Amino acid sequence: MTEDLKILTGQTQDHIEWLEPKIGIHIEIAYPLNELTQAARNAGYELAIASGYRSFESQLGIWNGKATGTRPILDEDGKRLDISRMAPEDIVFSILRWSALPGLSRHHWGTDLDVFDKRTLPKDYKLQLIPEEFEGKGYFAPLHDWLDKNLSRFGFSRPYEKDLGGVSPERWHISYSPLAQQYWKSLTIDHIRKVLSAIEFELKPQVEMALPEIYERFFKRISSV
Ligand SMILES: [Zn+2]
Repeated sequence: MTEDLKILTGQTQDHIEWLEPKIGIHIEIAYPLNELTQAARNAGYELAIASGYRSFESQLGIWNGKATGTRPILDEDGKRLDISRMAPEDIVFSILRWSALPGLSRHHWGTDLDVFDKRTLPKDYKLQLIPEEFEGKGYFAPLHDWLDKNLSRFGFSRPYEKDLGGVSPERWHISYSPLAQQYWKSLTIDHIRKVLSAIEFELKPQVEMALPEIYERFFKRISSV
């Protein structure tokens, strides 16, 4: 496997700089991210990263956990779904609304980050990354209102801004476009098919059967790169 393909699917950490033990970013976004963070600080916000780089292995753990019910799968209203009553194909698509298939997560690249305002995070509150926290009167809505106006100046964008029938809107998720766009263009369905065919994972037959639709709806279909 080439080094590039490994980056695309989260199978290397060679391109990652670690800001904290579990928070990694692509080495090449360190500068623009620092510029964005400084500008946010000057505007009164403390931009913090909840999740940056994620490996294939860790996305696989999330996937298998949801497929087997050890991690909750939520519906559109944030209520837990009872997967014991669902057809396997339906479980696949319910997981994909909130979690990527291993190998198709933009978090593999280190160019995409889930961000919040540390200044308005209440003490003893556990960050959940749910829409209520980021919209309307949510704790982190003011930071994100500011980001709406300022992200693009630093090269960042919001791939999951609108509901296009694929991934649910995720206001917390931002992407460094100049690099992410290259990765998004480079990762083909044949790459991902090859990676997945080599491993075992939950719901594999259903995923392989639906892969063209999954790839188009939950990977290619985005609000912006
Ligand atoms: Zn994210």
